[in-house]
Amino acid sequence: MDTPQDKQYRKVVYLTFPPEASGKPLVCDLSRVHGLAFSILQARITPRHEGQMTIEITGPRDAYERGIAYLKDHDIGVVPVAQRISRDDDSCIHCGMCTALCPTKALSLNIETRLVEFDDETCSACGMCTKVCPVKAMEMLLENGVM
Ligand code: SF4
Ligand code: SF4
Repeated sequence: MDTPQDKQYRKVVYLTFPPEASGKPLVCDLSRVHGLAFSILQARITPRHEGQMTIEITGPRDAYERGIAYLKDHDIGVVPVAQRISRDDDSCIHCGMCTALCPTKALSLNIETRLVEFDDETCSACGMCTKVCPVKAMEMLLENGVM
């Protein structure tokens, strides 16, 4: 049985690299050393200059915490990026695919109208719906001004 530590954790973070760390494959070590998956959302890295990168990290919570501590130990600045989900109501075709996997029930089918409703107050910004929506109506917005 999965323990809470085994559960997948997903976080977007903004990294700043001092010039001496810019050319090192420290972000790759999140995967190689700590077993985390990551995807680069944006990056501005030039060897021997200050760099910055926004990445999405996925993996067990304890591995995530070890990975972040590893980056900080190498003088990389780490700032969590607030996430918010928005729906483009004009694009949504109310297919209902997102309602089956939305963990907080922020997306739900209104039985009377047969329309899918989105409650942004309940949404935890986990991003699952953005991966299944066939018309890309669900969009992840990153705050803190880094995207
Ligand atoms: S981001 Fe997650 S919680 Fe929010 S609506 Fe999509 S699936 Fe539901
Ligand atoms: S998966 Fe996309 S199109 Fe389908 S109901 Fe959800 S938001 Fe609308």
